[in-house]
Amino acid sequence: MKKLIAANWKMFKTWNDGVQTARELMVATRQNLPADREVLLIPPFTLLKGVGEVFLGEENYSLGAQNFYPAGEGAYTGEISPVQLKDLGCSYALAGHSERRHILGESDEFVGEKVQFGLEKGLNIILCVGEQIEERKKGQVEEVLHRQLAKGLAGVEKDIQPHRLAIAYEPVWAIGTGEVAGPEEIVQAHTFIRNDLAQYVNFYEEIRILYGGSVKPDNAGQILALDNVDGVLVGGASLKAESFSQIVLAE
Ligand code: PEP
Repeated sequence: MKKLIAANWKMFKTWNDGVQTARELMVATRQNLPADREVLLIPPFTLLKGVGEVFLGEENYSLGAQNFYPAGEGAYTGEISPVQLKDLGCSYALAGHSERRHILGESDEFVGEKVQFGLEKGLNIILCVGEQIEERKKGQVEEVLHRQLAKGLAGVEKDIQPHRLAIAYEPVWAIGTGEVAGPEEIVQAHTFIRNDLAQYVNFYEEIRILYGGSVKPDNAGQILALDNVDGVLVGGASLKAESFSQIVLAE
């Protein structure tokens, strides 16, 4: 499976800037995208249409959503359904990003509900997991990852096709801090995730496991070369076409 290089724009960018960045990214990467790469742009909802106009229809470029509510439609003021996201051309969505767990209060169980519902409605889901710094200091990394995976994947069919699901390992202390997990920490966590996945899905060896947490042009190549690293999820460094295109092309 191709390595997935994903940009999470979070709550940044207005229309002109977002569309312009997507266009610049396409120009900078389209001609020389390595054969083993897939690019995923995950803008705020307000830019799905604008970025979609640049990305949709381009092979190996996809559009994703940062969030959704686990219902097809209904009286859920302020929420967006997977059906509406698919209608705009989204093929992927994040679930369980640490900012939603820790700022918006999403529980492991609610994340699991979203994973199951999003998959059922045809979105490919990237389930984000990762420990906080206190948990790492207490030696609880594997316990946290296991709990988040077990609850996040509780409703997933065992024979799910591997392209429908990805896991993003994002240690919370490395997100937006400039502090990157070391190669050993990344490999240890990804290997644990790979082995743990065997309990929930048949094709666990083929499920992509992305690393996220202060990925930059100067560390992306090294991270992408590590065992069991099948892509990266990038926040800050994805906001400029120049830096994100270097990550997309990093060898
Ligand atoms: C993220 O938001 O998922 C992320 C990894 O952010 P950053 O790259 O800025 O650490």
